[in-house]
Amino acid sequence: PLILGIETSCDETGVGVVRGGELLAHEVASSVDEHVRFGGVVPEIASRAHLLAMQPTLRRALAAADVDLGELDGIAVTAGPGLMGALVVGIGAAKSLAYATNKPLYGVNHLAGHVAVDILDHGPLPERSLALLVSGGHTSLLRVDDIARSITPIGATIDDAAGEAYDKVARVLGLAYPGGPVIDKAAAGGDPRAIRFPRGLTSPRDRERHRFDFSFSGLKTAVARWVEIAEVEGREVPVANVAASFQEAVADVLTAKAVDACRAEGVTDLVIGGGVAANSRLRSLLAERAGAAGIGVRRPRPGLCTDNGAMIAALGAEVVAAGLPPSGLEFGADSGLPVSRVLV
Ligand code: ATP
Ligand code: MG
Ligand code: FE
Repeated sequence: PLILGIETSCDETGVGVVRGGELLAHEVASSVDEHVRFGGVVPEIASRAHLLAMQPTLRRALAAADVDLGELDGIAVTAGPGLMGALVVGIGAAKSLAYATNKPLYGVNHLAGHVAVDILDHGPLPERSLALLVSGGHTSLLRVDDIARSITPIGATIDDAAGEAYDKVARVLGLAYPGGPVIDKAAAGGDPRAIRFPRGLTSPRDRERHRFDFSFSGLKTAVARWVEIAEVEGREVPVANVAASFQEAVADVLTAKAVDACRAEGVTDLVIGGGVAANSRLRSLLAERAGAAGIGVRRPRPGLCTDNGAMIAALGAEVVAAGLPPSGLEFGADSGLPVSRVLV
């Protein structure tokens, strides 16, 4: 099916066009520059930016795909989770388009979209796979039996998300927002073994109750304390080493638990998704460890890991191909939509 996807859950206005599993266009306008001085996304600013960017981004995507609205088989839009005011702009735009063109509209799950996007790079998902979802607001391990119909969480963070930890550690180190890409870059020049930071929920006792869960708030605090002590003692903070050691701790826990979960579930395909899936160390360590365990890793190109419209179009195409009913025009936005609810 030929599907248009619209994404506005946070600070990226994304519009994508896919035909089946093929990516035809993917345009993103970001308001990130407007949030930098606040050190995080300001919801009202994001909503206003979506309103301004929606029409031009939509136009660019349709032109790049060389597709007319009339040719579409359906329109997919992020129904949640995300910032309420931001979601509402995308849903409003998608409803207007669907009403004017009389095309079926599908309200879909942003987190499932982060997983589905890999189809555009590596083809259909296998019968059963495991997904490591690592984004700005979520960190979980998911059993994916059918991307359109059946996603089951088997573990999640009990406090901060991985991306959130990146953003907070960047602030501690005096680096820019968002922290992920800048720490990734700073870490390239550092020694990942310079400082041994804690690996949350990996003790033998945690293995019983929290085998597939994550915790990053202790790590974040440990980095902040380490930097504070260095400053108090008048030592220069070795930013590259701190960044590399922090990044190593995050990648170590994420990859170890993901591989363990694959073994426990008897699954041999692991797909990663979400902004942190763009991280260079996570990608390399996962390839190494999963490879050694006989598990195939699917890593979408970094540009499709962060928020975009193509992921929503890709998920919409799966939902349409599965023959699921459209959402109609009367659904709302759900800022807390659970990942198990793929379609509203
Ligand atoms: P959610 O998907 O949970 O609603 P979100 O949409 O805000 O949250 P994403 O766009 O999926 O999150 O990811 C953004 C996060 O990814 C930010 O926290 C950012 O720091 C992080 N990130 C982006 N690139 C990298 C990278 N190279 N290394 C580590 N983290 C990264
Ligand atoms: Mg963003
Ligand atoms: Fe996201």
